[in-house]
Amino acid sequence: MQPSRYLVTGGAGYVGSHLVAALCDRGADVVVYDNLRQGHRAAVLPGARLVVADLADTAMLDAVLADGPWEAVFHFASLSLVGESMADPFRYLAENTLNGLRLIEACVRHGVRRFVLSSTANLFGQLSEVPIPEDAPINPGSPYGESKYFLERALAWAERIFGLRSATLRYFNAAGADPAGRLGEDHRPETHLIPLAIDAALGRREALTVFGTDYPTKDGTCVRDYVHVSDLATAHLLALARLDRGSVAYNLGNGKGYSVLEVIRAVEAVSGRKVPAIYGPRRAGDPPVLVASSARAVAELNWRPEFADLHEIVRTAYAWRKAHPAGYG
Ligand code: UDP
Repeated sequence: MQPSRYLVTGGAGYVGSHLVAALCDRGADVVVYDNLRQGHRAAVLPGARLVVADLADTAMLDAVLADGPWEAVFHFASLSLVGESMADPFRYLAENTLNGLRLIEACVRHGVRRFVLSSTANLFGQLSEVPIPEDAPINPGSPYGESKYFLERALAWAERIFGLRSATLRYFNAAGADPAGRLGEDHRPETHLIPLAIDAALGRREALTVFGTDYPTKDGTCVRDYVHVSDLATAHLLALARLDRGSVAYNLGNGKGYSVLEVIRAVEAVSGRKVPAIYGPRRAGDPPVLVASSARAVAELNWRPEFADLHEIVRTAYAWRKAHPAGYG
């Protein structure tokens, strides 16, 4: 029997590459579709095939999708920075939605039956309750969140009209690195808290700037729910199996919030080094608190995060970053 075939857009990126690893580890046949603008060739494990192309290239997308049948399509490729989307809103609104629509439409054309969307906690920008369940009011905190919400809605129509089933997975703060040390986090420029704090601890940057100390939180800094990328990858596979019963949406986090200052302390504990920090103003688009209720994923998918502890998450991130001073090179 032929192994199941999967297409992964953005599979050379941070979360996408960890999902590709999980698929390859299970013996799947994986095609990665990535323009390598943010992704890295070296983040695609040798077991997967990489097609370097843009989603705007619909002729290429058609040619790749024609080579099915596909067990499922995973869509990670997108612009994904909250702060950048506040500075450049129309680029986010245009690129993320148009590329996503091109892909969804092409999937319908090629008879794909199952689709998994990488979505975000930023949908819940103006939060009303913590932890946040899936049916909390949606009110995106930024154009980035808005672009993901649009794709969630487009998928609802794709199901209603064409029967394309989908799982939309709202990640809270993806963090950590492949526990086997094959993959890690390498954004250019890096803007995420944990890798920046690690670099500051390692003396690779002067200091970490803490964005805002006047939030209505335990210590005045933003609170986030950090979830390990490999646990996210597992949740994708579980959600996919659930699609036989209909489309689903899950909030994926550990249900526990950590402030920026607590993350700094965790990096100090793991590295045994000081994280030099300076205190700056708020970053636009950042909600004060984002903590997931993952009760639905736990109950329906039997999802059991392996790296639920922040120190464990930081330990894997630290190991990769320390071993790869130039990231993927
Ligand atoms: N943050 C910070 N300094 C930095 C980067 C991030 O204080 O240099 C804060 C940011 O304001 C947010 C949290 O750390 O509250 C996590 O930010 P990150 O960019 O890692 O992820 P996001 O929450 O944007 O997905």
